[in-house]
Amino acid sequence: MLKVIEQQQPSILFLAYPNNPTGNLFDSSALDAIISASQGLVVIDEAYAPFADASFLARLEGYDNVVIMRTLSKLGLAGLRLGYLIAAPKLIGYWDRIRLPYNINSLTQVSARIALSHKAIFQAQTQQICAQRTWLYQQLSALSGITPYPSAANFILFKTQPGQADSIFNALKAQGVLIKNLNPQQGLLTDCLRVTVGTEVENQVFLRALVSCLD
Ligand SMILES: *Cc1c(COP(=O)(O)O)cnc(C)c1O
Repeated sequence: MLKVIEQQQPSILFLAYPNNPTGNLFDSSALDAIISASQGLVVIDEAYAPFADASFLARLEGYDNVVIMRTLSKLGLAGLRLGYLIAAPKLIGYWDRIRLPYNINSLTQVSARIALSHKAIFQAQTQQICAQRTWLYQQLSALSGITPYPSAANFILFKTQPGQADSIFNALKAQGVLIKNLNPQQGLLTDCLRVTVGTEVENQVFLRALVSCLD
């Protein structure tokens, strides 16, 4: 990344923190190195922050080239289409010059206010997902031929035996379980699938179906 920054001098750079589709959190020292090497704007996309113990937010002050982007989508409110951006006032001023009047409609604003006044419900839901993520990770780790990667998001990326990802994906789908097939993206994602952490029952159904594909 540092090499590419030096060669290309990008005007804008996006970092997903936690990352998608891997689910990992980059080391904060790696973030620091990237931010200080960047001449342009660094956007830290914290869409999955509700599921992570980390955020750049507390360290944002003092950076005039860093923007944090968040969304209500992963809290279970994707239909609201509401996100927000946090940055130094000078940077926010530029957005205020270009964003359209009424760019966030009133119904969305009212709905978000109501939803966020019940924050405890959303927190309980994300805590439940994090607990299920731990359980699912342990279960996947115990399967031979499956290698899950640690996740700070609401999904788990896992690797299958070479050449098996497409057939496992299709076999799961035939059993009514739809996950994400990342094998077609090739590169480091070859043989990888990604499952979203669901309810306890959904996770059990997924695991049972997966085990039946591995036989
Ligand atoms: C979901 C997601 C977003 C934002 O989604 P919206 O529904 O458009 O708010 C942004 N970045 C990542 C990495 C996401 O997974």
